[in-house]
Amino acid sequence: RWPIGKPHEVSGENFRLGTYVKLRLLGEDKNFFEGELAAMDGEIVRLEGLFSVNIASSDISRLNGAGGEWVKVTPETAALVKRSLAIAALTDGAFDPAIGRIVRLWGIGTPGARVPKPAEIRAALRSKGYKEVTVRENGGECYIKTPPGLWLDLGAIAKGHVADILKERLAADGVKRAVIDLGGNLDLVGDSPEGRPWRLGLQHPHKPRGEYFGVVEVSDRSVVTSGPYERFFEQDGVCYHHIFDPATGYPAKSDFDSVSIIDRDSALADALCTALFVMGRVKAEKFLEKNGGLAAVFVLASEDKVLVTPEARKIFRLTDKNFTVDT
Ligand code: ADP
Ligand code: MG
Ligand code: MG
Repeated sequence: RWPIGKPHEVSGENFRLGTYVKLRLLGEDKNFFEGELAAMDGEIVRLEGLFSVNIASSDISRLNGAGGEWVKVTPETAALVKRSLAIAALTDGAFDPAIGRIVRLWGIGTPGARVPKPAEIRAALRSKGYKEVTVRENGGECYIKTPPGLWLDLGAIAKGHVADILKERLAADGVKRAVIDLGGNLDLVGDSPEGRPWRLGLQHPHKPRGEYFGVVEVSDRSVVTSGPYERFFEQDGVCYHHIFDPATGYPAKSDFDSVSIIDRDSALADALCTALFVMGRVKAEKFLEKNGGLAAVFVLASEDKVLVTPEARKIFRLTDKNFTVDT
């Protein structure tokens, strides 16, 4: 497959989007790749500057501070918010981008993390959530309106969406093989340098980073995992993690220790991982029945069992001998 020796690989790592972003481009054109890599990083920085709640000048921060007025945003932000609202509706609010105040209140992953008082949680919860957000497009100009006190947070979909944008760029520029790793949100472009599918481990939820419970073999797919082990703090022996149940404002009590989704659409995979985690087993199984065709792997909490959807069975192999596949 590689007529002149080993393929070139150009890679880079930067702290972006609150995580370590690693990009690898593989192929012949090393000089072109160097520039492409820098351009991709610039694009990530630009998009983070639109979507992040941690950057005061971002579209989302400006919206959250707007107190109910229409706010002009970039078309990129309008597109991602629209997509988020659609997935929120699809998941009946298990994924809800209007979770911003709850996320801020708990501060999980920040030095100020704490268990809020029930009254604080009630005050930060929006009964209608995402349904109160409106996006309007007018002759190419985009506007969003949220009620005062409702804050958006795109943390459960932004990495996937950024990966999708980077993939489009690579396709347009003729890059056929690449790995986009946005802190565990993985995108495998093309096939591996051996001309086979990429082999990728799925993070073991109870073991150190880099230890896997199974592998998937895929080409041209995004592999996204959500789990409470990613970000949490402990108080009085209780573990509080960063995936919230929008119905309660507390970290979701899930039947799962992790949810992995394998799909072409990275934004969808990212948002649905979060949503299926929040739903738990009964609701997740109903969701998958209704929206068939999704490749997903679940690790059940407190049981050493793994659930694998029919679409995922062809590409997933269990490697941890302490786990069994539930049928
Ligand atoms: P990770 O941040 O590890 O990629 P997720 O994709 O599951 O994990 O996203 C979790 C983040 O999304 C949280 O840190 C928070 O910003 C936000 N979030 C938490 N719960 C929800 C929810 N139910 N719906 C939408 N966003 C959420
Ligand atoms: Mg997610
Ligand atoms: Mg995510």
